[in-house]
Amino acid sequence: AIVIAALKEADGEHRVSLVPSVVKRLVKQGNKVLIEKGAGAKANFADQQYVDAGAQVVDRQAAIDQANIVTVVNRPDDETLGKLKADQMLLGLLSLSVDHDVAKKLADAKVTALSFELLPRTVSRAQTMDALSSQSSVSGYKAALVAADHFMRYFPMMITADGTAKPAKVLVLGTGVAGLQAIGTAKRLGAIVSGYDVRPASRGEVESLGAKFLTSSVSAAGKGGYARQLTKEEQQKQQDELAGFIADSDIVITTARVPGKKPPMLVTEKSVQNAKPGSIFIDIAASELGGNVAGSKPGEVVTTDNGAKIVGADNLPSELATSASEMYSKNIQAVIKALLDKDGNIKIDTTDDVMSELVATYQGKIISGRLRSQMG
Ligand code: NAD
Repeated sequence: AIVIAALKEADGEHRVSLVPSVVKRLVKQGNKVLIEKGAGAKANFADQQYVDAGAQVVDRQAAIDQANIVTVVNRPDDETLGKLKADQMLLGLLSLSVDHDVAKKLADAKVTALSFELLPRTVSRAQTMDALSSQSSVSGYKAALVAADHFMRYFPMMITADGTAKPAKVLVLGTGVAGLQAIGTAKRLGAIVSGYDVRPASRGEVESLGAKFLTSSVSAAGKGGYARQLTKEEQQKQQDELAGFIADSDIVITTARVPGKKPPMLVTEKSVQNAKPGSIFIDIAASELGGNVAGSKPGEVVTTDNGAKIVGADNLPSELATSASEMYSKNIQAVIKALLDKDGNIKIDTTDDVMSELVATYQGKIISGRLRSQMG
């Protein structure tokens, strides 16, 4: 039997990588599961539920000492990484494609690191493993709720004896997984919703949700279903085009990202300054690298001089930790399933179309094609 251990996340993170229902299945399949004490508490999974599911609750050192596979949501601190041994496996949202030095260190220590952001998402067999999609979905849903919460007016049209309230106008910039979920949620709350993307393919998806697709004069479909980075000229053209759409909206939810690149600036300082008092900007792309909205700060709500609010929503999945963890844990389970042979032993096939990308480091080498091409 192999030993799978879920670590407790750092303080600001409420999610957990394994939930009791998934633990139960892993144990039933003959694996041993260890949970670091208190790992699920912030996502509302008590230690006792893990024990009932067949896991042992242990301290971090014991978990690392015994595990064949260590599971996490975010990459653990350097001290913890330093304790991982040769052939031990680490699985999570490790962000190795942005932190190449960490990838190198893990390779040097002969740790087998699987980093979810490297998963080839267009391979249909990888769909159940797609943690980026599951967590983006949570982000989009929650973004609409956070917007509604900050907004001081109704979302739906309200006809009452005291008069009629206008429905809110919501604009979603970037209509990938998160954006479509934000559109669906804002629609369900009764807002008038529009979507905008540089991938023409997303028009049909936006319209099927009953939202309006705004014309984009810039078409920038890239590799693997993603958008490519815009040129300087295209970016200028886009910002001018968007300024009008933004000025006409009460709420703007931005989700635009380009893999491995700084998020595109979609809402300029001028657009923020032109916003009506009470306008809300929710920037899901907000990060240390920057975001889609000028002046957004990750983890903060900024009120502008003209009375608009900019929410730097850098970790919405943590705010919906129970559902986010349940979905994430299923993604972990799917990866583990793909790693085990019929006798329940770990077998890594680096020629497999999914593993050849998802496996960042193995036996001292960088394996992932995407990571290798980035690292040169
Ligand atoms: P993402 O998080 O990388 O980006 C979010 C959105 O921002 C994307 O729709 C992108 O086109 C858009 N964007 C980027 N630059 C922009 C700009 N300058 N202006 C406006 N919009 C911009 O993307 P994602 O949501 O993770 O997924 C992107 C695509 O991958 C989607 O088509 C999605 O359906 C597809 N996908 C496919 C599978 C699959 O085939 N199994 C799985 C997951 C995602």
